[in-house]
Amino acid sequence: MQLLKTLKIKIGKLSTSKSALLLKEYSEFQKAVNFSDEFIDKNKIYSLKQLTKLLYSEGKLKKIANLYSATYQTAYTQVLNVKRRNKNSKIKKIPLTLRHDTFKFYRTRNKLFKYFIRIPVFGLRGGILLPLYMRDFQEKDLENCIISDSKISYSNGNFFLHLTIKKEVEDKKIPIQKEKIALISIDLGERNPAVSVARVGSSMTPRFYRENIRAVRAHYRVLRQELGKKKLLKKIKQMKDKESRITKNINHRISKAIVEEAKQLKAKGFQPVISMGDLQNIRKASANKGRNMKRRINQWSYYQLQQFVTYKANWDGIPVCFISERGTSKTCHTCGNEGIRKRGLFTCSNCSMEYNADLNGAINISTRSLDYMFKDRASMTMPHVQNYKF
Ligand SMILES: [Zn+2]
Repeated sequence: MQLLKTLKIKIGKLSTSKSALLLKEYSEFQKAVNFSDEFIDKNKIYSLKQLTKLLYSEGKLKKIANLYSATYQTAYTQVLNVKRRNKNSKIKKIPLTLRHDTFKFYRTRNKLFKYFIRIPVFGLRGGILLPLYMRDFQEKDLENCIISDSKISYSNGNFFLHLTIKKEVEDKKIPIQKEKIALISIDLGERNPAVSVARVGSSMTPRFYRENIRAVRAHYRVLRQELGKKKLLKKIKQMKDKESRITKNINHRISKAIVEEAKQLKAKGFQPVISMGDLQNIRKASANKGRNMKRRINQWSYYQLQQFVTYKANWDGIPVCFISERGTSKTCHTCGNEGIRKRGLFTCSNCSMEYNADLNGAINISTRSLDYMFKDRASMTMPHVQNYKF
C-alpha cells in the first residue's frame, strides 16, 4: 500500500530578484488556473486528454500566462481535480504546483540551510534555488520516501513548500507476540475528544486528550446563529470552514501524540498495536436525526481522528485494529455489569465502582481487543486506508 504525506516547510528569506521571480511564477500560475477554471465551466470538458489538447497543445494557456512549460499542465490538472470532486466549486487560488521531475530537492553541507529546492521558472534557465527551513522531525520523515509532485503556497509575504513524499508500506500479516504486546486503546470521550489507555503487561497508563473540540463547536454555533439571523450566508460558510480547520488541527495533534506514544513503546522493545471502536455504522446513525445528536456529531470528528491515527500509525508500521464498540460505554470494566454513566462518571451498582466514564470505555475497548486478538487470530493485518494528505 502506498502512503502519501505532505510536509509544510517554510522557504528562507530570498533576495529581492529571486522573490520577484517566484512571486511572478506564482501569479502567472493563478492566471492559468483562473483561465482553466472558466474554460472547464464554459465547455464542460472533464477529460484530461481533451484539456491537454485544447489548453496546452493548441497553445491557449501560453497566451494567457507565462509559465515554465510543464507547469501549465499542472495548472489545469489541479483545476480538473477540483472540478471532478465538485463541478460547482469556485476556485480562487491554487498553490503553485510542480511536477516531481521538474524540481530538485536536496541536502547540502551549508550550515545555515541543510536543504534546498531548485524549481523551474519561466524565462530563466536552471530555475531558482530556494533555501528551506526544514524541521528535524520532517527530516526524519524523509527516510525511505520518494519525492512526489509538490506545491508552493504564498501568504502574508511568506512562501511555503508543501513537499509531498511517498512511501510503500507492506500490508502484510504481522504476528502478535503476547508477551511483548503494548496495546493502546482509544475511546471517543464524552468530556474529552479522546481517551487512551496503554496496556503493557498488567500496567495501564491512561491519557486524556483534553483539547476542547466542544468549546470550539459551541463558539461557532453561537456565531453562526447570529449571522443566520442577518442572513449572511457567505460569512456562515467561511466560519464553517474555519471551524472544521480548527477541529482538523486538533485531531492532527491528538493522533500525532497517540502514535508518538506507540513509537516510544516500540523503541523500548514492545510490539505496539492501536485499537479503536469500529464506527462503521456512523452513516446509518446519521440518518437517525435528533436522537443522540451530541454523540453523533462527536462521532464525525472522532471518525476523522481514527483516520488520522490509522494513517500515521501505518506510516510507522504500527498495526491498527477496530473492534465493535457496542456496550463498551455502559459496561463496568471491573465486573462486566451494566452500570450508569452520568456527568462523566461511571457507577457500577454491582461492585460499587466509581470511575471516569471515558476511561472506563477505553479500558473495555482494550480488554475486548485483547480477547479478539488472542482468541480469533494471532496476527494483525495492516489495514488499508485511503491516501490522506497532511
Ligand atoms: Zn462493576
